[in-house]
Amino acid sequence: MKYEAVIGLEVHCQLLTETKLFCGCRTKFGAAPNTQVCPVCLGMPGVLPVLNKKAVEFAVKTALALDCRINERSIFARKNYFYPDLPKSYQISQYMEPFCEKGFLDIEDDGKTKRIGITRIHMEEDAGKLLHGDTPDDDGSSFVDLNRACVPLIEIVSEPDMRTALEASAYLRALRDIVVYLGVCDGNMEEGSFRCDANVSVRPVGTEKFGTRAELKNINSFKFVKDAIDYEIDRQIDLIESNGKVIQETRLFDSAKGITVSMRSKEEAHDYRYFPEPDLSPLIITKELIEEMRKTLPELPQAKRRRFVSVYGIPAYDAGVLTAEKALADYYEAVVKETGEPKISSNWVMGELLPLLEANGYSTLTPATSGSVINMVKSGAINAKTAKEVLKEASKTGKSPEEIVKVSGAGQISGEEELLKLIDAVIAANPDNLARYKAGKDKLFGFFVGETMKAAKGQANPAVLNKLLKERLGS
Ligand code: ADP
Ligand code: MG
Ligand code: ZN
Repeated sequence: MKYEAVIGLEVHCQLLTETKLFCGCRTKFGAAPNTQVCPVCLGMPGVLPVLNKKAVEFAVKTALALDCRINERSIFARKNYFYPDLPKSYQISQYMEPFCEKGFLDIEDDGKTKRIGITRIHMEEDAGKLLHGDTPDDDGSSFVDLNRACVPLIEIVSEPDMRTALEASAYLRALRDIVVYLGVCDGNMEEGSFRCDANVSVRPVGTEKFGTRAELKNINSFKFVKDAIDYEIDRQIDLIESNGKVIQETRLFDSAKGITVSMRSKEEAHDYRYFPEPDLSPLIITKELIEEMRKTLPELPQAKRRRFVSVYGIPAYDAGVLTAEKALADYYEAVVKETGEPKISSNWVMGELLPLLEANGYSTLTPATSGSVINMVKSGAINAKTAKEVLKEASKTGKSPEEIVKVSGAGQISGEEELLKLIDAVIAANPDNLARYKAGKDKLFGFFVGETMKAAKGQANPAVLNKLLKERLGS
């Protein structure tokens, strides 16, 4: 029998607010344990939560970008469970009445577009973190760090619309691109500010009814999403084929071994004894706020990709690379303004500039600098090899390309007299090859080009060099 997978993702995004969801504590990652806490996020008795307006704005922006319906009225609820990283013994979340429902996200796979439904988005607070084993005195005790408690999250729940691990990772990437473009989340999977649980089931091809799903936790990279889902699909098919039954459970992905292992049987909603949070009034999102947020929406990655292809005429592949980060896309557009050459600029940005920008940042190597280096290559003032050196130097030091070229004497040799001197020396030094060339071994032309280029330390203008050599060799 042939099987197909059914996959739905639950994605948690940490919102990039300065302060937490219900108190004024900072949200900065990496602070010393329990230094960003107060009575509210420590869960002291009698304290009251106050909702962070910025978090609501970020949530609304995300909902708009994902074409969701935004509910005017939504309700915070208590999700009750006991765990040492949750001092209140409940998490404030949204349950029956989330602020946002029914959106979608289009993913591109193999040139085809597929629409993935978004069931809902709700706001909630994060829990703290437990540190096991790797503790200051390493005596086997566990520690609790509540810096993360009460940090604002949105949970984006997809419809079970994905059928392959590749589709799931494409969806996750597209989603990450969007929240990063919006500036509502830093998208850092390693630090856990963008994390994903994958729900996976399988069914015989051609059947409608969904199989029993397992929920995979602890997936913190795009590669792991794909690996975990692929493993899980195989596991479930093997199980069914050997007359076993998939049970609904939560499984943990062990990235070192590349397998999923059972963690606990799946909890049901009623286990959490949800009830409306009595300390918060209903959240009212006004039309005015929605319109205000709509005005702040930037051009989203997909729209930008399409525009790059249609306006600049560059290949879809280039557009994909260039729009992966908003800063890079802006950079590329600024370089094109300098050079007027979309494709040549794209080659330089993707090839030479991207690694430099990643290593040294955007501040030293401005688009104006890069543009003028590309223009120097265009005009023949320097060759491509020199240009790469100049860009490297400029990226490290922030010096102007003109200055670097002047100081290093790296200007390209286009002067015929100067080049002829080098050519004559090369010819004089290689009488044997000259004779063979004259006898018809045309391929040796390349040898003379190479030798002369070497003598010019790579700085000869290739076109001029070719022309002069042809004349000198009498071909
Ligand atoms: P829970 O909190 O119980 O996990 P949610 O409604 O938050 O429930 O999320 C359920 C997720 O599981 C959704 O992304 C949904 O698309 C997905 N899902 C539901 N049923 C199946 C199934 N049979 N196979 C795969 N995914 C499923
Ligand atoms: Mg779930
Ligand atoms: Zn606090």
